[in-house]
Amino acid sequence: MRVGIISDVHGNLAALEEVLRAIDRLHCEQIISLGDAVGYGPQPEECIAAIASHTTVAILGNHDDAVLGRTDPVYFNALAYDALLWTRQNISAAARQKLESYLLTSRRDGFLYLHASARSPQSWEYITSHGDARINFRCFTEQICFIGHSHVPGGFFRDVDGHVAPLLPGRIELREGRRYIINAGSVGQPRDQDPRASFVLLDQQAGLVEFHRVAYDITRTQMLMRASHLPDFLVWRLQVGY
Ligand code: ZN
Repeated sequence: MRVGIISDVHGNLAALEEVLRAIDRLHCEQIISLGDAVGYGPQPEECIAAIASHTTVAILGNHDDAVLGRTDPVYFNALAYDALLWTRQNISAAARQKLESYLLTSRRDGFLYLHASARSPQSWEYITSHGDARINFRCFTEQICFIGHSHVPGGFFRDVDGHVAPLLPGRIELREGRRYIINAGSVGQPRDQDPRASFVLLDQQAGLVEFHRVAYDITRTQMLMRASHLPDFLVWRLQVGY
């Protein structure tokens, strides 16, 4: 089974369409979305629809949850909050219903999928340090926990002796006894100084995880954002991957 893993689409349809085309070229049988379909970007309705028609599993992110009024946006910065209010006003009841069906976690074929952290999936905490990773490796038993949330692709691995080390994006050959926390990065708002959309391929038979980047028409998304009066900073950051 080859699985395309996407995350943090954030209403950026131009980016999502390119990623779906790339995943198609890689002959994936399934696509899993790790959350934050909406927030920031100008086409939440279209992204929710595309995720519904292309993915086997859609995971819930903090922005999805906040749009539904369930996560308190007190933790959002002012610009994310503006985008959240805009998103609430620009999705249909049917799209809301799709967001309501998103899962907090999913276990499939021996892998764990969620948005933020295995330790407490709905606290929306980040896994950025060795310490965070060490705690989280104790909170799941699968070989890999796939996450999103930070918008930075990469992750950590843990050896049989308990040693934890960072994992750089690239081609990862999975090793017996080794366990992984893998962040798919972001389709719609990358933050690692590479503006190209990010996703991950999991090849279960080959025991392989590959990080991929695809260029997309950033100006198309930016024009729509300006037309919708979304904050300038959110428009600008797309072109620098920040
Ligand atoms: Zn996000």
